[in-house]
Amino acid sequence: MITIKNPADGTLLAEVTEDSKEDILLRYETAKGAQLLWKRTPVKDRVDCIRNFSALLETNKEELAATLTQEMGKPLQQARNEIAGARNRIAFFLENSEKHLADEWITTGGATQEQISYEPLGVIANISAWNYPYLVGINVFVPALIGGNAVLYKPSEITLLTGLHIARLMQEAGIPEGVFQVIAGSGAAGEALTRLPLNGYFFTGSFATGQKIAAATAARMVPVQLELGGKDPLYIMDDVADLKKAAADALEGVMYNAGQSCCAVERIYVNQKIYDAFVEEMVKAAAEIRCGNPMEPDMDLGPVSRPGQIEILQEQVADALAKGARLIYQSPDIPEKGSYFPLTLLADTQHNMKLMQEESFGPVIGIQRVADDEEAVFLMNDTPYGLTAAVFGTDYDRAEKIMEAMNTGTVYFNCCDRVSATLPWSGRGHSGVGSTLSWSGIRAFVQPKAWHLRK
Ligand code: NDP
Repeated sequence: MITIKNPADGTLLAEVTEDSKEDILLRYETAKGAQLLWKRTPVKDRVDCIRNFSALLETNKEELAATLTQEMGKPLQQARNEIAGARNRIAFFLENSEKHLADEWITTGGATQEQISYEPLGVIANISAWNYPYLVGINVFVPALIGGNAVLYKPSEITLLTGLHIARLMQEAGIPEGVFQVIAGSGAAGEALTRLPLNGYFFTGSFATGQKIAAATAARMVPVQLELGGKDPLYIMDDVADLKKAAADALEGVMYNAGQSCCAVERIYVNQKIYDAFVEEMVKAAAEIRCGNPMEPDMDLGPVSRPGQIEILQEQVADALAKGARLIYQSPDIPEKGSYFPLTLLADTQHNMKLMQEESFGPVIGIQRVADDEEAVFLMNDTPYGLTAAVFGTDYDRAEKIMEAMNTGTVYFNCCDRVSATLPWSGRGHSGVGSTLSWSGIRAFVQPKAWHLRK
């Protein structure tokens, strides 16, 4: 039995029966049969089902947002934003999928005609994370379904109720039985999926679990895509036009969703010429943040979703303080009950601190002084992760050189912590393999077939 608790107060929200290995095998067999019919359904009809699904997200958004907030703790308005963002992302797939899945005639004249067609992979696993269950799920299951695959969707046990809502709405939207199924379970259920002969594995989660999935499926020779964590840096150049705005934007990147975003700002480097002034602005911006019950309107910061994360964050802060960092802000009056961690700002951090090396995934940030752009570039790149990197400033040519030097899948100028459906989302190194979104995120779920025809 999986127990789902509200991180804001520890109350029991639901108990859901876990799928056994036999149940998972049965779901796989059902998916295999259902996919044979689904792949013959015209792309346009598959797209129409997803259009219905998107409309149902809108109709049900208040109930869906409340469930999401209750099970993982994000402020209610952020849960609503996630559902609205999910619909925007779906709109991209609705508009672009048919074009990128259509057969392509390469040569029609001459002795040999050449054509490319795109065929579904088959039955794929979508093993997903709890921090943005709609957004990270939709990156995978929407293009996978439009591409003609059947999907075994394993939400994190933390957001299983959201996963069950998604499955119910998929069915209401007209996705045939068996084509989209939720696997209810913990990590063991994910592991069970990796032992079945699926045709692709699409994972969002931590580097440690990503490694296990890659190892478990390596001999199978099927596509494996991994969207993993990050230790994303942000650099404030000395020519930044509006320090107050830069601090407010950087802070939002730090603490939105309680810092539980793969592309959250995890390290801030500031040019020495404006370091003290920036630190002052960060403290002022932090004092505006309201922390408390995420169901209350206008709350900025709720609890962290996994109670165990609090210990990790405490350890990172203690390590930084022991090595000479300075605590410059910690939000007062956080609720005593529930898994809250105060918004915590540390200045004068150094590269050898856990806070500057290991993914925090919480509302905490280290701010570090750098001599110049060269030092910033070195520190920003000196990490095994490679998801995003941001530069704030005025001189674009100077910033462009820094962004070119970044070994990351995404770079930002005067913005951070954002994902666009029209651009590929990919990590390098410990941040993952493969990409979702944009046209490459449509083609990731199909395999090309080359036709050489002498008729
Ligand atoms: P985990 O790696 O702990 O879990 C991810 C999923 O894998 C969950 O469904 C989990 O199940 C399942 N799982 C756990 N163990 C196994 C296993 N041995 N085999 C197969 N599946 C398993 O990550 P989190 O859920 O804690 O997510 C946070 C991480 O995700 C962060 O590192 C974050 O940066 C990253 N992330 C990356 C994104 C990106 O696009 N790059 C986007 C969002 C998050 P269960 O939870 O039920 O135990």
